[in-house]
Amino acid sequence: MTNKRDYYEVLGVEKGASEDEIKKAYRKLAMKYHPDRNPGDKEAEEHFKEVGEAYEVLSDPEKRQKYDQFGFDAFDPTAGGGAGYGGTGGFGFEDFDLGDIFGSFFGGGARQSQARRNAPRQGETLEYILNLSFEEAAFGVRKEINIQRMEVCQDCGGTGAAKGTKVETCSVCHGTGQVQTTTRTPLGMFSQTTVCSTCRGKGKIIKSPCRSCGGNGMKRMNRTVTVDIPAGIDEGQTVSLRGAGGHGINGGAPGDLHVTIRINPHPIFTRRRYDVYCELPVTMAQAALGAEIEIPTIDGPMTYKIPEGTQPETVLRIPRKGIPVLRSKSRGDHVLIVKVEIPKNLNERQKKLLRDFDESVSEHNFSENRSFFKKVKDLFNK
Ligand SMILES: [Zn+2]
Ligand SMILES: [Zn+2]
Repeated sequence: MTNKRDYYEVLGVEKGASEDEIKKAYRKLAMKYHPDRNPGDKEAEEHFKEVGEAYEVLSDPEKRQKYDQFGFDAFDPTAGGGAGYGGTGGFGFEDFDLGDIFGSFFGGGARQSQARRNAPRQGETLEYILNLSFEEAAFGVRKEINIQRMEVCQDCGGTGAAKGTKVETCSVCHGTGQVQTTTRTPLGMFSQTTVCSTCRGKGKIIKSPCRSCGGNGMKRMNRTVTVDIPAGIDEGQTVSLRGAGGHGINGGAPGDLHVTIRINPHPIFTRRRYDVYCELPVTMAQAALGAEIEIPTIDGPMTYKIPEGTQPETVLRIPRKGIPVLRSKSRGDHVLIVKVEIPKNLNERQKKLLRDFDESVSEHNFSENRSFFKKVKDLFNK
């Protein structure tokens, strides 16, 4: 994914470019690289896809904001599994009339463009990034999210014609979207198929366009969607809602909605797969004598007994007190890392107590310390 070019660079616009500048740049490049103009040219096809993808993101204020903030990561959850842009197919071409761009193309492309324009296409796939708290991800949560998606216009039922009016079949091309012209030349008769300029290849004429969708038949709507996040979900994983994306075009299937999870950091817990890690600061005396300590877990506080003589960095595991395993009844562990705190700012009395204590200890109490200095002594006495 790192070899992808920056979307602004792809369209050749500045970072702060206006919607209009982005649209203009896209039209220019889409025309230049359109497969109908570059038959069999793989490189042009790649450019065409790249330009389409960049436009899909930069033309949508929500996606553009995410891209500005997160870069490609905003749409590429492959790091944690899940679908990126690869399989989505369409590039949100429904946002404006293709006829505007391709209406001026002549020749063999005409038939293809017309077919593509009226063929059923799947609705757009939507990407959403959802921030969860550590606990929400651990135990699952139901969330309402606000999305924008293209929907069939309810006012005209998708026809694009105003209420009480009808879509008429183009009388010039009789609904085929293309016209044949025959030219007589000294070399013979030449027949050429071109896009019908009267209906821009749609085969249909809308005399009074629906006011609600401007004759498009589809419009972008704000919707609230409920997402059930399963317990145990992890950073970067994606919940897919089939059919919750944009409505299909020309009767095509609706797209999907991909919700990618980001987990906000927790003040004391960190997570490794299903295990919860937590540092446990204990005093020198607690570590030496053992102690019953109230510790935090994701289920709430619990009493835990650390054994006598616990060493710094000791890893203590409490089984099945961690994160619930995704779609399972089992759980990870709660893991404590012991941090022994050495006291500072001692007063004279405390210092004396410690000195007295230190004089009282033997090899039996500090086996590592004593054996180390014995080795050092042996080393120099050789
Ligand atoms: Zn409408
Ligand atoms: Zn026509």
